[in-house]
Amino acid sequence: MNGSAESVAAALRDRQSFVLTSHARPDGDAIGSAMALALALESMGKSVRVVFRDPPPPHYCVFPAVDRIVITDEAGGPADAAVLLECSQIGRPEVAGLDRFFVVNIDHHPGNAMYGAVNWFDESAAACAEMVAEVIDALGVPWTEAIAAHLYLAIATDTGGFRHGPISARTFRICARIADTGVKAAELSRLIFDSYGIGRVRLMGALLNDMELHHGNRIALLSLDDALLAASGASIDDTEGLVNLPLGAREIVAVAFFKRQSGDVFRVSLRSKGSVNVREVAERWQGGGHTNAAGCTMTGDLATLKRTVAVALAAAVDAGAA
Ligand code: 5GP
Ligand code: MN
Repeated sequence: MNGSAESVAAALRDRQSFVLTSHARPDGDAIGSAMALALALESMGKSVRVVFRDPPPPHYCVFPAVDRIVITDEAGGPADAAVLLECSQIGRPEVAGLDRFFVVNIDHHPGNAMYGAVNWFDESAAACAEMVAEVIDALGVPWTEAIAAHLYLAIATDTGGFRHGPISARTFRICARIADTGVKAAELSRLIFDSYGIGRVRLMGALLNDMELHHGNRIALLSLDDALLAASGASIDDTEGLVNLPLGAREIVAVAFFKRQSGDVFRVSLRSKGSVNVREVAERWQGGGHTNAAGCTMTGDLATLKRTVAVALAAAVDAGAA
């Protein structure tokens, strides 16, 4: 059964100690949603442990509460409940032992498996943090500047700087209240989007130099391996968001970015514009995500994988244009 901000708040109010987590390779929404809720619960005198399998991108560490995230693949305990944010399945955090707890599931990804004892799923939220904002209100916790900064991190990143996803009046009402706390949106946006190392800018050049175009320039393919990273002086954290670069061209409506993990295993990030549905493409390889931002893992020879994905994206582009 789908719940609400109120049913989630009731479950949280009744309990005292929590493990909070989100998906592996956490993005801004995972981090912002978890830390905003952690701060709110702590202000009510509750005890909170935030665990992530992977560390946050280093430049997000300037956000007030990010330094207290515990990096582990074991949930630990004891706790009265585990709260999973941003996770369509209980396996997405890649943290063992979460199923031992009373599980609260708050998510906006289509296809959420409703695996919790309490579930609230709302795919009309542009970021999971929109839902967290409503939970914090339902708990009666006033928004501090620190809570607001984390909510902003989540919303600004999950909408790609207010470019994609179901951005709504609710999104901007929350942002108005974020600004009311004294948070400086422009300064935070610079911290979020313009605080990488010089290696990332070099990497942009190298990636775009090797970009492949397909389907009458409507599809772009990018790929990356350790050699290209090293030659650019960039780190893997510097690759976050680069999949969006080709979308800056008017005619490009779908992008796939292949990141070699090891041998013939690739993480594939997919992005699109408008009604071109890349979630359906990702699901073919057991991945998922949203209409305009999805991902999956693929195994095989890179040239063959690129051809296969280009064909799948071409079908998605044609279906979206129909
Ligand atoms: P990214 O390309 O930034 O890794 O992921 C884009 C979106 O797709 C995010 O919303 C993320 O949660 C989702 N996503 C990425 N990889 C996977 C996956 O392997 N499985 C599922 N279910 N979702 C994914
Ligand atoms: Mn999200």
